[in-house]
Amino acid sequence: KGTLMKGKKGLVMGVANDRSLAWGIASAVAAQGGELAFTYQGEALGKRVQPLADSVGASLVLPCDVTDDAAIDETFATIEREWGELDFVVHAIGWADKQFLRGRYVDTPRAAFLTALDISCYSFTAVARRAAALMKNGGSLLTLTYLGAERVMPHYNVMGVAKAALEASVRYMAADLGSEGIRVNAVSAGPVKTLAASGIGDFRYILKWNQYNAPLERNVMLEEVGGAGLYMLSDLSSGVTGEVHHVDCGYHMVGMKNPAAPDI
Ligand code: NAD
Repeated sequence: KGTLMKGKKGLVMGVANDRSLAWGIASAVAAQGGELAFTYQGEALGKRVQPLADSVGASLVLPCDVTDDAAIDETFATIEREWGELDFVVHAIGWADKQFLRGRYVDTPRAAFLTALDISCYSFTAVARRAAALMKNGGSLLTLTYLGAERVMPHYNVMGVAKAALEASVRYMAADLGSEGIRVNAVSAGPVKTLAASGIGDFRYILKWNQYNAPLERNVMLEEVGGAGLYMLSDLSSGVTGEVHHVDCGYHMVGMKNPAAPDI
């Protein structure tokens, strides 16, 4: 067992099961001696998260629906009471009604837009403000984003707009919190088959496309997202803030289809 995260305490939000990107990061941090708290959305997911949390010796496992300010307040009040301070947060939460993760973005109704932006973007701001108040010795805040923020991806639609806002919020919060030694970054992961990803239209096609056209000629693995998350949360990245770090086997910088790739 490594010691990179020894003495650091952090909150991981967004584990749904053992394929969640949040879980990839949590296991990497736990393997380096970090102490973890988890939040989950609703009792059904709580039953899945509890054994995972137990397996890494987590001290706190709390319900928190991020659409509810009172629930977020309660989470941070508990952390303050139990720990008194906090070193890092992983925000791996996103949601849009899957009815609108297909077809045209231009057809997104107001209510679907507001909910997607609330859960997928504003929740990170709401969490960051409360977390920062507990980060007395500086800290690291991390969220998860996707290339659909920067470029048009089929079916990603309102989530792409939400991720663009999320990435901008990373930069604004990095500027706001830098003087307190608090860093704010995002990992932009390539496609990984998770519960959230299954809501996106034609996700299998997207996985194949990335596999054939990424420079590394494969898709990214959960452990690799975990490793990048660990870097962002640890002191190894102490000089890094306001960054969107791509962990996608290089796909983000490719300009055209690989001519040698097979047809999908
Ligand atoms: P996941 O389904 O395992 O995790 C999504 C989490 O969001 C779940 O734990 C769910 O409970 C939580 N959530 C949704 N609404 C919530 C709410 N109102 N309150 C509290 N929690 C809520 O899927 P994942 O792919 O691991 O997603 C984690 C993050 O990674 C998301 O932001 C997603 O957009 C991002 N991401 C995923 C991929 C991918 O291909 N899987 C790629 C890039 C970025």
